[in-house]
Amino acid sequence: MAYKHLFGPVPSRRLGISLGVDLVAHKVCSLNCVYCEVGATTNLTIKRKEYVPAQEVISELSDFLKNKPELDYITFSGAGEPTLNSKIGAIINFIKKKYPHYKLSLLSNGTLFYDEAVRKEVGGVDLVLPSLDAVTSAAFLKINRPNPNLKLGKIIDGLIQFRMEYPNTTMWLEVFIVPGINDTTAEISKMKQVLTKISPDRIQLNTLDRPGTADWVQPASKQQLLEIKNKLEPLPVEIIAKFKSARKYSSYKKDIEKTILETISRRPCTDKDLCEILGLHINELNKYLRELQQKDKITSERLKRGIFFRAKQNN
Ligand code: SF4
Repeated sequence: MAYKHLFGPVPSRRLGISLGVDLVAHKVCSLNCVYCEVGATTNLTIKRKEYVPAQEVISELSDFLKNKPELDYITFSGAGEPTLNSKIGAIINFIKKKYPHYKLSLLSNGTLFYDEAVRKEVGGVDLVLPSLDAVTSAAFLKINRPNPNLKLGKIIDGLIQFRMEYPNTTMWLEVFIVPGINDTTAEISKMKQVLTKISPDRIQLNTLDRPGTADWVQPASKQQLLEIKNKLEPLPVEIIAKFKSARKYSSYKKDIEKTILETISRRPCTDKDLCEILGLHINELNKYLRELQQKDKITSERLKRGIFFRAKQNN
């Protein structure tokens, strides 16, 4: 069976071996973050609906899970914001009922947690990984370029509320640092107050490791991240370590890496081109591109049609 809504299992730096479940079409999101790796948001919305049919997702899950694959997590993530799918709760309930031994995680931008229905639908996952990059409206607008109906105060209250209502769901909250915007002393000090209120189990600092949607975004240095970490302590903050060894997982397919290299040594391609040529989900492809970049095997260049990847000569 060819899957339209499942991808992987992919080795994930935070989740181990994770089966991805994509509940929205590319690219439906409530934000249009400057660092987004899956491309610019084309449907910037907060309207919840069945963006992909729940029944199709459930059929694919039933087919995939019937062989009892070894997984650390089944993860709702993908090319947009999963909580925008109004059937996410039904899908979560289906997995919990039929496959209770699998752990569920949710990668979300957290913008819809102000909605009681959303909190209720996703409150049963084992691990929630929301993001919160800004605590002032100015930084929020610059980094996350939200749907105009979203209000930062409401988003923060939603995260606090979720934490109170679902204390058994582990929360790892990601903060993506964009130098010059959310790394100032004033921003970090306010961020600390807000994070103290939300009280996640872990706070994970991240920064750019591949070109994002906007070309002006620069990565923060290790030193900058360490300084921010120091300022946020004693909160439980960590810098998300670079993904080092995807190859140790059997699901990291060596032949895919080779095919990507062969393809982009013939001609430079965008991530979109590569997804089409190789039949890979954008999130899965990103894992390979990240690994190849860390091994210094590819370069990337921003051109009119997007970011083009090419193989380095010495491969
Ligand atoms: S990074 Fe996540 S929240 Fe931001 S635009 Fe991309 S998919 Fe949406």
